[in-house]
Amino acid sequence: MKPIYTSLFVVFTLLLACKETTKPGSEQSEHQVTTIESHGEKHWSYSGETGPEHWEEIEKGSECGGKFQSPINVVNYDEDSKLQPLKISYSDSTHIHDVVNNGHTIQYNFDSGDYITLHNKKYELKQFHFHEPAEHLIDGIRYPMVLHLVHINDAGQYAVLAVMAKEGKSSEAFDFLESHLPIQVGETKIVDIAFDMNLNLPVTKSYFTYTGSLTTPPCSEGVEWFIFKEPITVSLEQVIALRKLMPLNNYRDEQPHNGRSVKVSN
Ligand SMILES: [Zn+2]
Repeated sequence: MKPIYTSLFVVFTLLLACKETTKPGSEQSEHQVTTIESHGEKHWSYSGETGPEHWEEIEKGSECGGKFQSPINVVNYDEDSKLQPLKISYSDSTHIHDVVNNGHTIQYNFDSGDYITLHNKKYELKQFHFHEPAEHLIDGIRYPMVLHLVHINDAGQYAVLAVMAKEGKSSEAFDFLESHLPIQVGETKIVDIAFDMNLNLPVTKSYFTYTGSLTTPPCSEGVEWFIFKEPITVSLEQVIALRKLMPLNNYRDEQPHNGRSVKVSN
């Protein structure tokens, strides 16, 4: 592709991505929920003048400049024997509705059916997406990739599970997910196939937990984070297949703790 065509292509794909953010309509609440972590009103990005250091100024009304942001470096955590195992209710019959490349990440949106229970409230799994490399650090270590499983309850409160992925044996679940790729920026593909989300979880479910924010504009705070201690494994080829479709280094740097404590379950 000649340079001028390349630039036109980039502009065109950005326009497509932009158009989607302003999509009005009946599905507004669902749209809001499923894409809120990945869409802003302007074209925030992961580098340069629209990169994370500028989110606060370009995303008016966002909480990106807040004091209790995510991700963080998970250090100085306290064991808390009162922390309960996570109540995860993922069914093998829940369908993935579609997969979208929104220009920030590859995101799989779910039909209703999968949920977790927190404080006796149901938090529905709306979508999961990828960051490469991972966003949260664990004892200063950054994994090659992370999956964020975004849940929301009736009151609009978020809970996100983070599943770290390290390089190793290939994942059959990823083979299935990636069979719907590649996908271009601004494109949505209907999947409509049952997927057992348990296949993307580690065997051991112990976790770190703290309260932070969405890691993309509008960076809303009050998000309950659950970061599994044990990573899953994916092959290098599986990481590369996703990396090729996402912005380079689509992660936000660590944010200050500002007095927040991190707890770790047994
Ligand atoms: Zn995320």
